[in-house]
Amino acid sequence: MKKNAYLHEFNILMDRKVYLPNVSGMLRAYAEAQPRIGGAYQFMPFLFVRQEPEKIARTWDNPSVLAFSSSMWNHQLNLTLARRARELFPEALIVFGGPHVPTRAEKLLEDYPFVDVAVRSEGEVTFADLLARFLEGKDFSGVDGIVYRDPVTNECVRTKDRSLVDINELPSPYLAGLYDEFLDRRGNVEYQVILETNRGCPFHCSFCAWGNSITKVRLFDIERIKREIDWVGEKQISYVFGADANFGMFPQDKRIAELFVEKKHQDGYPKVFRVCYGKNATDRIFEVAKLLEASKMTAGVTVSFQSTDPRTLILIGRSNIKIDTYRELLKRYRREGISVYTELVLGLPGETYESFARGIEEVFQAGLYDQVGIFLCEVLPNTEMDHPDYAELHGIETKRIELAETHAVRRQPGEVREYEDIVVSTRAMPREDWKRSVTLAWMAQTLHGLKLGFFIALYLFKRFGVRYTELFEHLIAEGADRDRFPVFAREYMFFAEYLEGLLSGKPQCVFLDEFGRISWQIEEATFLRLSGDLAEFCREFQVLVEKLLRERGIDFEPEEVREVVSYQLARSACMDPSRPREWRFSRNLPEYFDRLMRDLPTDIQKKPQTLAVAATDYGGKKGEFARQVIWYGRRDCRTLESATWY
Ligand code: SF4
Repeated sequence: MKKNAYLHEFNILMDRKVYLPNVSGMLRAYAEAQPRIGGAYQFMPFLFVRQEPEKIARTWDNPSVLAFSSSMWNHQLNLTLARRARELFPEALIVFGGPHVPTRAEKLLEDYPFVDVAVRSEGEVTFADLLARFLEGKDFSGVDGIVYRDPVTNECVRTKDRSLVDINELPSPYLAGLYDEFLDRRGNVEYQVILETNRGCPFHCSFCAWGNSITKVRLFDIERIKREIDWVGEKQISYVFGADANFGMFPQDKRIAELFVEKKHQDGYPKVFRVCYGKNATDRIFEVAKLLEASKMTAGVTVSFQSTDPRTLILIGRSNIKIDTYRELLKRYRREGISVYTELVLGLPGETYESFARGIEEVFQAGLYDQVGIFLCEVLPNTEMDHPDYAELHGIETKRIELAETHAVRRQPGEVREYEDIVVSTRAMPREDWKRSVTLAWMAQTLHGLKLGFFIALYLFKRFGVRYTELFEHLIAEGADRDRFPVFAREYMFFAEYLEGLLSGKPQCVFLDEFGRISWQIEEATFLRLSGDLAEFCREFQVLVEKLLRERGIDFEPEEVREVVSYQLARSACMDPSRPREWRFSRNLPEYFDRLMRDLPTDIQKKPQTLAVAATDYGGKKGEFARQVIWYGRRDCRTLESATWY
């Protein structure tokens, strides 16, 4: 009788969307292709949708092998299940692999005696070897790339490192039909696909596990990728995520983009292909982004900095493009109508409040008009940052907080909680400065990223040279006055509670029941909460701006500021179907902002103009508004209504 083997890889449920388990598929496809294993094991349906552990455990039918792919978002559930499996099936082999297995994998076995084997680095061949050896017993001394528990002495034994395999010898789980059983009865679940086009990253950012594990990049054959893209089209998969650390870096990436575009035109699927672009933007990335954008397969391109501070960049082992190059790139992408998404990380070693604020300022002043993503620095296992010496050197203090993934469904009572470790202070950024930085990031993302104050900030900078961060700091300092600015103060209080919550272990994302069952980042939550009070918010904004200009001794026309604030209000996405579609201005503000956004010379003149706003109708449904504008629309700035002027 065959031995039953179970593969667990629990992915995040985002409303009704979930990724098919790519790692499990790769493991099974390779193992099953080995005659000895295929004949001896029965691979059971992948377990990848989170549920209460007992419900999952009830699906096990006399398992001989239980393998767990562990990442930050499923590690605790895996441990809970593995512990239960050991109670129920004492003879079963329990194997852990994935990015959450520590470099010193012995620790996993010491801490969790129910785990038999920890797989180090990539797992396909190792897992197959394990299965083959397990047909004879639990002596895994000949299996490279693992730490296992010796069945006689109970000691942890580390075998020698496994050399990297030729990835083109690994069968594709998609082409092997391993997901067909799920796709054939998908109901209202939307399965998303992760496609590997290559493996590895040649860079070594200290906060990232990718560049600290497999640094040699190996490419999958273009023919295989083509067949996988054909499969995606045939199976009518809407969303593909490219598991590539630096898309656009290799010549074949352009061909891959062309294949996706051809498939969409031919079959209508996939509709979307998202990927992480190479960090040092090149002409090839530009060409690739143009191709994908023209077919509406992607929402812009990523040009990330993580930090602009030279000292921090040295400490994290990263080099970026120069800010002048970035400025030119932004213009180049803008000319093609391609939005740019830029990331910064808060809490990196060496970064101070001042350098962090300077980073935001530099990126915004360079002309980033699209999206900014500012992330709290997390300490991930197997990164340089996770090493005690590195943490000690940079005074890194972390806080373990509950994990609520962005746009994911709330965990149900009885479900296992997951955790992440965020940096809450460093030697360069003490706790109070960290709190100030998080507050600044919140304000910058709400007003600039989500565009609630975008035109006002742009106007102040272009017209009077008021720095973006100067405006944000002013709003933070003055907006908390409850009597004068009740809407600002309410949101400030909401944020302040959130911040305290973070420091006591609450999640980074929050739930707003009136906007649906998924979670939101804090700035998204602020945007949604303000969407019902936009007129009052803008009125307070105007008073705050006038106060700032007066304090700076800047000569300004209050009527002009009032009209700029009106322009901001007119362009902000809103649920109210009765709001005006036409807005009249005594100055040429529609033309002024239109030209600014196209990098054309412009100035403000007294010349009446009318702005005609699209005013999208969301049928009064808050959940729909939130999904369309934020979840699906954030990257291409649907928080702004499109408009024309005359
Ligand atoms: S952050 Fe990006 S570039 Fe840096 S190591 Fe990770 S994957 Fe590579």
